[in-house]
Amino acid sequence: MRFILPLSLIATTLAIAPVRFDRGKVFRVKPQDEKQVNVIKNLAKTSKLDFWYPDATHHVTANMTVDFFVSEKNSQSIQSALEQNQMHYEILIHDLQEEIEKQFDVKEDIPGRHSYTKYNNWDKIVAWTEKMMNKRPEMVSRIKIGTTVEDNPLYVLKVGKQNEEKKSIFMDCGIHAREWVSPAFCQWFVYQATKSYGKNKIMTKLLDRMTFYVLPVFNVDGYIWSWTQNRMWRKNRSKNKNSRCIGTDLNRNFNASWNSFPGNNNPCGDTYQGAAPESEKETKAVADFIRSHLNSIKAYITFHAYSQMLMFPYGYTSKLAPNHKDLAKVAKIGTEALATRYETQYIYGPIASTIYPTTGSSLDWAYDLGIKHTFAFELRDKGRFGFLLPESRIKSTCKETMLAVKFIAKYILKHTS
Ligand SMILES: [Zn+2]
Repeated sequence: MRFILPLSLIATTLAIAPVRFDRGKVFRVKPQDEKQVNVIKNLAKTSKLDFWYPDATHHVTANMTVDFFVSEKNSQSIQSALEQNQMHYEILIHDLQEEIEKQFDVKEDIPGRHSYTKYNNWDKIVAWTEKMMNKRPEMVSRIKIGTTVEDNPLYVLKVGKQNEEKKSIFMDCGIHAREWVSPAFCQWFVYQATKSYGKNKIMTKLLDRMTFYVLPVFNVDGYIWSWTQNRMWRKNRSKNKNSRCIGTDLNRNFNASWNSFPGNNNPCGDTYQGAAPESEKETKAVADFIRSHLNSIKAYITFHAYSQMLMFPYGYTSKLAPNHKDLAKVAKIGTEALATRYETQYIYGPIASTIYPTTGSSLDWAYDLGIKHTFAFELRDKGRFGFLLPESRIKSTCKETMLAVKFIAKYILKHTS
């Protein structure tokens, strides 16, 4: 009995307060040459920069737009260093904490209830998956494809009229925890698709003839962490051997040219690839599910944010994919369809040349496995809000994205065998 009090006291002290970002700034810099690239790389070594775009220091090259976050403590010295080196910069966000609070700009209809125009935490998303199954049992079922490191379930919603031997599309959202608009889209997709069945001609046809496997949150533990402890968290929450740093970047953990570029093998880095391909429970569960449904899966679509891009293989090589022309055509028309709603401009192309070379990505892995149409969306915006897109923009973001996804699905239905 004597232990009870001290232990509970320890537990209370261990409960950590969420990380705050008061007066932290997001800078945008465009290095003009190698010398300026090195200035950024050196700054990253001496001060802690959180790269927003690209997602790690080693991806920075000349003439690339680079966005990074700096805490209040370091922002003055970063600013002086940029000025000393005559580098032009913009401050996209002056107070990150303020921006984090401002993203919740849609009032709740009913407090605590799930809403498609608000960001929903994990508990609300789980309850929502149940609601979708109960509401549309003839069209929606839930499959538990595995569990996370912290033993949370990984749920895939199977959406479509149930009959055998249908073509299918696998879609995932939220592989990177802080990209909140991505899970918001997966929820929107399931809702809108089932709601418009019988009303919208194209959607009815798609659901009659195809199955959509939708994983609304891939990186569940990281997503929870981004809600409760650190809004800017990206990786999963697994412990790393011989390191105090937590987490693997699940989108570097797939078996696609894994470990072939330097820069992803530091467990403390935000793009840590993990100890081995599929070392992470989340990656393994998704990869196993896709492998076991390979006969029917004709397309793979993964949703990220931000930058407004639609990309396809390869990320790990600058070589063009064998069906490059076909992929580029689908991406072109997809982005055009997306723009019809609000004139939102997306660029498209292979990952390696559109953003930067990456290894171990889910997109390349799925492609090499034999899924010939694989796409990655980088949703809104282009940096004004970055990962903190206000809730008031969820609806328009989802509506326009839906147009592109519908086009891709229609294309897959018609052109794959
Ligand atoms: Zn991402």
